[in-house]
Amino acid sequence: MPTGAEVIREVKGRIDEVDPGTVHADLESGNGNAPVLIDVRESDEFEAGHIPGARHVPRGHLESRIEGAAPDRSQRVVLYCASGNRSALAADTLERLLGYEHVESMTGGITLWKDRGYDVEVPRRLTKEQRERYSRHILIPEVGLEGQQKLLDAKVLLLGAGALGSPTSLYLTAAGVGTIGIVDNDVVDLSNLQRQVIHTTDRIGESKVESAQLTMKALNPDVDVRTFDLRLDASNIMEVLQSEDWDVVVDGLDNFPTRYLLNDASVRLRIPVVSAAILGFDGQLSVFEPYVGPCYRCLFPTPPPAELAPSCGANGVLGVLPGTMGMLSATEAIKLIIGKGDTLTGRLLLYDALAATFTELKVRRDPDCPICSRAPDDITDEEMGVFPDYEAFCAAAG
Ligand SMILES: [Zn+2]
Repeated sequence: MPTGAEVIREVKGRIDEVDPGTVHADLESGNGNAPVLIDVRESDEFEAGHIPGARHVPRGHLESRIEGAAPDRSQRVVLYCASGNRSALAADTLERLLGYEHVESMTGGITLWKDRGYDVEVPRRLTKEQRERYSRHILIPEVGLEGQQKLLDAKVLLLGAGALGSPTSLYLTAAGVGTIGIVDNDVVDLSNLQRQVIHTTDRIGESKVESAQLTMKALNPDVDVRTFDLRLDASNIMEVLQSEDWDVVVDGLDNFPTRYLLNDASVRLRIPVVSAAILGFDGQLSVFEPYVGPCYRCLFPTPPPAELAPSCGANGVLGVLPGTMGMLSATEAIKLIIGKGDTLTGRLLLYDALAATFTELKVRRDPDCPICSRAPDDITDEEMGVFPDYEAFCAAAG
């Protein structure tokens, strides 16, 4: 029987090897020569530092996971490990058993790469407690450690600590979204508690943002909660939206005048908005990604007749409906943050709770949209949120 060293020598004789200098040059060149770079070491080795841009497929999971990392077998794939032995064996497997056409193993592995003075990326580590708290996220490949880091780095602004904002804020907090801003100037009322589950009976009369913050901090101390005890209007919206580098805005305000204002400001600042609306037993949801999909004005160039606007006075709503819609909003926000899945950009989702049906409408950008057909800098302060005066609008409803 050959020794292990002899097997490695034999394998190295039949596979292609590549020098770290060549890999470095190809990755830097940006001329289409860049290979898919795969780190075949164990998780703890990968987390201690890897080549920037490398995908992680431990050699023990090579056969089951390689297609996720390098789906195209005709692509050029470069494998590396610590010193070049494990990657040579893995390259042999990819070539001989899995039919990859252009596989190379990097000579000397990451050790030689580092000796040459090339960059190594050291991912931030989660604390032991965070690993446990987010373990069910880390176990799903679409989130994983990388997605959890993105969530912890993410900044989400929630408009409204009410019926829609309650479930959204609870689940984004539980998911470990690092910074959550919450805007509301209302106080907790007894009639809120049928659906606004972030508040409690003993907080009636207290500020909603303070109450929300208490619940969120108790659920997850990792989350930095920023409160904005104000009513969003034309005088403060740009300041609030620019108070942090918000990655996503979740609109749970459900009133038309603010929705137009928010749309115009978010297009101008290029911040995606997850927008839900509810009435009675009906909910709707979409994602407005500026210049990627339609904006709110593309869909609704004019507001509905005032008497149909849910923002004017008290309307009935099934308490769990905003729960459903708020949680769908949280799901969309998380997908936007981790960059996985298909968001509702360009789609309007309609939910009929009585019939238990979901319907989906394709929605397109309007080439003549007064807002998003133009460059962000061309949108002036005067044009933002142009909408009938709120009081007059509701008064017209009678
Ligand atoms: Zn538009």
